[in-house]
Amino acid sequence: MKLNDYHFKNMTRDQRTKTVTHEFGHALGLDHTYEKYDVMQQGMLSITSLSYTDKKSYDEAYRRY
Ligand SMILES: [Zn+2]
Repeated sequence: MKLNDYHFKNMTRDQRTKTVTHEFGHALGLDHTYEKYDVMQQGMLSITSLSYTDKKSYDEAYRRY
């Protein structure tokens, strides 16, 4: 995974953490979700820990590989 410095330079640390975790989820085959506290929802948010739904999705992806 390569990160784009142009977009990252104006983000907070929490926004960067969320973005990297979110993109890693896509690399594992996860889609977007619509739950309020999910890392896998779209948007430049400051979510830094996985929600119950995120953990369930990551666990399912892990079992696939
Ligand atoms: Zn996404």
